Amino acid sequence: MSDWIDIPSDPAHIRRERERARDLKKSLWWQQQCLLGVCHYCHKKVTPDAVTMDHIVPVSRGGTSTKGNVVPCCKACNSKKAYLTSAEQILNTLEDENPGLFDSSEDETGASHHDALLSNRGLFIAHPHGFCSGVARAVNMAEAALQQNPEKDIIYCLNEIVHNQHVVFRLSSQGMIFVKRVEDVPEGSRLLFSAHGVSPDVRQQAEARHLQVIDATCPFVSKVHEEVRRFAATGIHIVCIGHRKHEEVIGVVGEAPDRVHVIENAEEVCHLDLPVDQPLAVVTQTTLGEAQVEAVMSALRARYTHLVCPPHADICYATRDRQHAVEDLAQRCECMIVLGSTNSSNSQRLVETAEAAGAHAKLISDISELSRYDWSAYSTLGITSGASTPEHFLDATIQWLVGQGFTCV
Ligand code: SF4
Repeated sequence: MSDWIDIPSDPAHIRRERERARDLKKSLWWQQQCLLGVCHYCHKKVTPDAVTMDHIVPVSRGGTSTKGNVVPCCKACNSKKAYLTSAEQILNTLEDENPGLFDSSEDETGASHHDALLSNRGLFIAHPHGFCSGVARAVNMAEAALQQNPEKDIIYCLNEIVHNQHVVFRLSSQGMIFVKRVEDVPEGSRLLFSAHGVSPDVRQQAEARHLQVIDATCPFVSKVHEEVRRFAATGIHIVCIGHRKHEEVIGVVGEAPDRVHVIENAEEVCHLDLPVDQPLAVVTQTTLGEAQVEAVMSALRARYTHLVCPPHADICYATRDRQHAVEDLAQRCECMIVLGSTNSSNSQRLVETAEAAGAHAKLISDISELSRYDWSAYSTLGITSGASTPEHFLDATIQWLVGQGFTCV
């Protein structure tokens, strides 16, 4: 292999390289995302199966930092150094290692090597994906409560612990009972609050029934509660950008019901009946899309002169990182599969992010739904899973797609 090249900085160059790769061999397109050559650090040979896609580091492209790029790294030394080879380098290397790979001769079945290569369909996995720290923490707390239960008491959970049917089903099968109201829990029982958090009113109800509370509220949600309490204590009104019916938002509003006003989109800003010349605080649901929040913020800025925002945005790191990974992958895949339940806010946002980036996107909540679609229409598929989707669902989906002729990259 000759010289390494860094990620091309000239957009026209990137476009030419991509067109060239597409023209030469369409199915080779996905191989362009893998290293072929020698690791910059350990000097070991790096082929696609010696590459890990686990690392996400900012990569400078055209002088602009593009956060959340999935960067292939050498597994041997974990160097976290990213280099993409050009389409031409890939082709040269493949030809060196596989003489005759690209000639048009046919094998005994009548199919050319070229056709065989074209039959490969690439399956890309977004990193990060799946359980975030808040969900993992809540599920661990639930499992620990079920296991450390010598008296075999029933453990209750208020609402779904996280918005995922597989997780809820699994905990149900271990004996957890999910309820909608605190009054449905017998006095003195153990009650788990979900990762989405609850309002102070619900906490008081639990106290009044002498319930033993296990609080699995995600710390990022607790942070928003804290912000609302702090803003409300100063006497100013607070706008909460989010979905009115989502449990997280209901809990946040409950911190100061007479002060917090929920808006779901930019159009609703003009319906706010609040003085435009007085301070107005803004908080957001943790699992929104960045573009969605920015659109609402622009409308708020245009109407209110004195907005007070928390020092750090409320969209949590897990939501942001997963959206960035999908945004990047969706630009390179014809279709993105998002694994998650239909009531999962962050999974829904991943679908929107993929569509905004130009890919088709399908939200799949169960393995049985995969057969509804004609995946053979796509040569490149991306796959991700929402922050509450267990890894075994991703594994099963990959296995199913590999059975349909996709190659996991
Ligand atoms: Fe917490 Fe974010 Fe995960 Fe929600 S998505 S549980 S806020 S880390």
